[in-house]
Amino acid sequence: MSLLHDLLEFNEQFVNSKEYEKYVTDKSPDKKLVLISCMDTRLTELSTKALGLRNGDIKHIQNAGAVISHPYGSTMRSILVAVYMLGADEVMVMGHHDCGFGALKPEPMIDNMKARGITEETFETLEHSDIDIKNWLKGFDSVEESITESVGKIKHHPLMVADVPVHGTVINPANGKVDLVINGYEEE
Ligand SMILES: [Zn+2]
Repeated sequence: MSLLHDLLEFNEQFVNSKEYEKYVTDKSPDKKLVLISCMDTRLTELSTKALGLRNGDIKHIQNAGAVISHPYGSTMRSILVAVYMLGADEVMVMGHHDCGFGALKPEPMIDNMKARGITEETFETLEHSDIDIKNWLKGFDSVEESITESVGKIKHHPLMVADVPVHGTVINPANGKVDLVINGYEEE
């Protein structure tokens, strides 16, 4: 049986037995926070549970590394939507120790792409279009620096509300401990 089949079969049971009732909430977050965390599998539940957050409390955006890589990319747009349209009035960027994206080197991933059928010609075309694939696929040396950079991009975005605090934190995926890197209340 395929994974998709298993997932959909479970879903049918889930709906029929009304399991969804314990997750019922509305679209506006109770805690009025938008959280940007890494897509690391260890953090899927840990990043919110470690802060006492429940389904319906926050807007949660997850991507590789919890990084704002482009000021007009979809992560930044999601933050702006959360703030302007969905009632979020604080933002938190949460990186984590032992981040797979942080350790990412572009060369092995490009080798993987080639091994799986992406042609040399495609890379040349992208290069001629001024797309710096190596830079795009590069992780970071320090999680604290990466968070500080992303917090700065959000805080100083031309479309961001000036008085919305933007916090930066690092979580330890082994025990859920969250350390403060930037206190957004002090940066106003
Ligand atoms: Zn990560």
